[in-house]
Amino acid sequence: MEKQDFLDSFPFQLLCIPNEDIVRMHATSGTSGHRPTCGFYSQKDLDDWSYLCARNLGAIGMTKKDVFQNTTSSGLFTGGFGYAQGCTVLGAMLIPFGPGLTSRQLEFFKIFKVTAFHAIPSFGLRIAQVMEEEDIKKDDLYLKFAILGAEGWAESTRKTIEERLGVKAYDNWGMTEAYGPGPSVECQEQNGLHIWSDYFFPEVIDPKTGDFLSYGETGELVITSLYKEAAPIFRYRTGDITTLYTSECPCGRTGFIMDRIKGRQDDMKIIRGVNIYPSLIEEEIFNLSKFFTDIYLITYHTVGVMDTITVKVETRPRIDKNSAKKKLQRNLREATMLGINVIVSDPGTLPRQEGKAIRYQDLRDRKDKFNG
Ligand code: ADP
Ligand code: ZN
Repeated sequence: MEKQDFLDSFPFQLLCIPNEDIVRMHATSGTSGHRPTCGFYSQKDLDDWSYLCARNLGAIGMTKKDVFQNTTSSGLFTGGFGYAQGCTVLGAMLIPFGPGLTSRQLEFFKIFKVTAFHAIPSFGLRIAQVMEEEDIKKDDLYLKFAILGAEGWAESTRKTIEERLGVKAYDNWGMTEAYGPGPSVECQEQNGLHIWSDYFFPEVIDPKTGDFLSYGETGELVITSLYKEAAPIFRYRTGDITTLYTSECPCGRTGFIMDRIKGRQDDMKIIRGVNIYPSLIEEEIFNLSKFFTDIYLITYHTVGVMDTITVKVETRPRIDKNSAKKKLQRNLREATMLGINVIVSDPGTLPRQEGKAIRYQDLRDRKDKFNG
């Protein structure tokens, strides 16, 4: 199965139970196609999903003694409800705060002695930024754990969030077609994501040929749900690029482990013959976090007949733009073997985004539209 099957059978044709047995639906915003991708749940699906999210929270070390602030909205998207339910199954106190209002979120962190939160990684960085602006120290807070996901994030983002917020930050991967969050999470080893292998059977394929790859090889993640009732998925092409292993983890959990998602199949661009994932460029920007803020925009465009990449970044206050630019350009060339244009602007000048951040655009089929 693939995404197109969901879009073609929109909204109800993939259902395997009578409509009256559906107790919930969620949906994506529908940005990647014209139609949203819907998730439908029987009562058992909801119970299983809640339990999987509770497992995720347990795997990162949370117990019922924790106070958990959910910074994603308990609305149409799966992330908010998923962890609200998971937290309730675990028995920890839930604060369903929802997105945005970063200063107010931080006040809640203090007043209610919040020990754990769920967010998208870019909001984790936003919290760090507001702490800096408002001179809030990590020791003013009680945080221990962050569970982050729904978009790709680099190891350097983890370091930034962990250092500035005083937490351990854990990755978790999911998608609406597979309940939402819940299928996988990092344990306290922070060395790959455990896929709950009693609920999902994962495989990795070559995205071009569809051939199955061996464990340890990188390709597109394909998953089969083993218990979903309302809309099961069978050998579903996730579009996400990762590497799968069967090795056992020191934490004692067995089953499948995968690397953090490298990017989406459709994010990967071939620029002058080189495979480029935005995460590769991000990593280099974040490695120079002394010079640059966390906000950036990657543009793929065409100059004459050549595919070209331009990266817009902004410097931190009192940084010499020229030498910062040279450093980044050199590091990007080493990492990608491509010459990449870097445009450096003043602090605070690139647009801030709430929600899943849009960090790259492909204008290669719109040759006239990009002028730096
Ligand atoms: P969500 O609300 O979890 O983002 P969607 O169904 O809207 O659910 O999007 C699922 C997609 O989000 C995945 O296929 C993947 O591309 C991306 N995603 C989710 N979690 C992660 C993660 N931890 N790392 C990288 N990408 C992720
Ligand atoms: Zn483990």
